[in-house]
Amino acid sequence: MDRIIKRWHEMIRINSVNGHEVNLADYIAKELRAMNLEPHYSYFPEDAEEKVRPSVWTMLDSGKPGKTLMLIGHIDTVGVANGWDSDPFTPVEADGRTHGLGAMDMKGGLAGILETLDYYAQHKDEFTGVIEACFVSDEEVLSKGTYQLVEEGITADMAIMAECRYDNVAIGFRGRYVFIADVRGKAAQTSRYPDVGENAIILAGKLAAAIEALPTATHPNLKHGTWCVRHIEGGNPGMLVVPEVCTIQIDRFVVPGEDERSCIAQIMEAVASVGLEGKVDVRLKPRNSPYMQSFALEPDHPLVTTLREKFKEVTGEEVPVAYDPSVCDSNILAVSLGIPTVTFGPSGGGMHAANEYGYDWQVKNAAEVYKRTVAELLK
Ligand SMILES: [Zn+2]
Repeated sequence: MDRIIKRWHEMIRINSVNGHEVNLADYIAKELRAMNLEPHYSYFPEDAEEKVRPSVWTMLDSGKPGKTLMLIGHIDTVGVANGWDSDPFTPVEADGRTHGLGAMDMKGGLAGILETLDYYAQHKDEFTGVIEACFVSDEEVLSKGTYQLVEEGITADMAIMAECRYDNVAIGFRGRYVFIADVRGKAAQTSRYPDVGENAIILAGKLAAAIEALPTATHPNLKHGTWCVRHIEGGNPGMLVVPEVCTIQIDRFVVPGEDERSCIAQIMEAVASVGLEGKVDVRLKPRNSPYMQSFALEPDHPLVTTLREKFKEVTGEEVPVAYDPSVCDSNILAVSLGIPTVTFGPSGGGMHAANEYGYDWQVKNAAEVYKRTVAELLK
């Protein structure tokens, strides 16, 4: 069995469901040491004591001056979905596919990164600069692993995110925020309403409709942002009191040019348009890691053109560029660090579901594309 497929299967056997990343981190560290590379562990603050959710990174230095290219992938998987026909932690091969949890998302991509490192660790004369590899935790929930590496000062000149997308190269993603609006009415005994009291639920309902009618910016490739009022809470199920407060939660995807401040300003416009000035507080919903901003790379960036050219060399086929309406760790690299980032890797089917699988040939091809892209960009 090829070394790359063997590693892919070994990683599927390791339970690295989000929250249990250490097992796979240790495996990767062991593989890196065998290549004479030094693994560095990184822990985000919530895991500083328990140390069960590390990210691992390493640098492969050619010894010659040059650029730094980052290869990055996440080591966590989602949990085991219901309905598996086989053991999710046992790779099962059939028809060029391997079934197993993480087979698609994204242990094939990790195997591709390791294969690239392994090759260049033995062929340091074939590149300049540095290949940096990051194996990060917590991508499936809050991306705390990647944010921690950013905190610790990791950087590069460009990055390939080995996430599972094989039919196209993603060069732009939307960003996303969640906002909370507290709408205040006036409490009163319901028997005296509406002569006295002001119903916060009714006010919030008007505001919710006004928010969803707000425009968004547009982008030639990422199209436009979206507004979605996705949660509402208020009122008193057990008391005869006119609702005093109603809280709505707003999901907002953004395109380049839109950010937290522009969105809040828009929500305040909606507040004014329904006459609720002074009755609404709007804020970003707190979370443990920053929200992801939108980015889009130019299609003629050398990172993009080289990767597409190498894909053609390896497969004989064209791979188009794509813009993704969602968010991923690429947003962090591209926005927080300002690193040109492309997202491409071996894919498959059944992502985040039962009977997930990946294709052996895609795992091998992606690794070959990474290798050749490194050779070209770090010439
Ligand atoms: Zn993934």
